[in-house]
Amino acid sequence: MRILLVEDEKKIASFIERGLTEQLYSVDVAYDGDRGLYLAVINPYDLIILDVMLPGKDGFAVCQELRQQNIDVPILMLTARDDVRDKIYGLDSGADDYLTKPFAFEEFLARVRVLLRRQRANKSTTLQVADLKLDQLTHEVTRAGKNIELTSTEYALLEYLMIHAGQVVTRTMISEHVWDQDFDSFSNVINVYINYVRKKIDAGFSQKLIHSVRGRGYVIRE
Ligand code: CA
Repeated sequence: MRILLVEDEKKIASFIERGLTEQLYSVDVAYDGDRGLYLAVINPYDLIILDVMLPGKDGFAVCQELRQQNIDVPILMLTARDDVRDKIYGLDSGADDYLTKPFAFEEFLARVRVLLRRQRANKSTTLQVADLKLDQLTHEVTRAGKNIELTSTEYALLEYLMIHAGQVVTRTMISEHVWDQDFDSFSNVINVYINYVRKKIDAGFSQKLIHSVRGRGYVIRE
């Protein structure tokens, strides 16, 4: 599950990002409204968490523009003010839910789960390649019915490969979508993590699913 967080207060942003990453969500962060809008238009997110008071376009404007462009991703708005007019205005501009800062992180996560469930209500949450299954909602991964434990980075990497099953995923794509965007795609870290995931997914099975494509990247396929 890929989430965009638009929040200009760095401390709050990093707190939320860390908390969501611990829950195995893959998070992109924007620190102003214009960047947030740009990312929301070019990437397929499962949820956007949008602060109201932002430099550049404010949260209401970002929300309205996304809805005008028929981008129907769920939006959870955050505001520092507990003002009913703000709440109504936020919902009127197309937000799905609203949370006043400061909030209890447990409540925040519960609302995130509700919105993601709603978003996925009509879609299957399970990705499958051969006998390997990954549930994007519960983060459960199984091969041949056997449970596989992954770290958050390994999970994010495998989910990304499975979303693109059958297609070659380049190191640049991985570095942009699984790690932070400024991650150096030429470092050895991607190889290391591919090998971790491969060990957990393919070891002991005659049919290997994760393949290296020389000079190009990696692919998961039957
Ligand atoms: Ca703010």
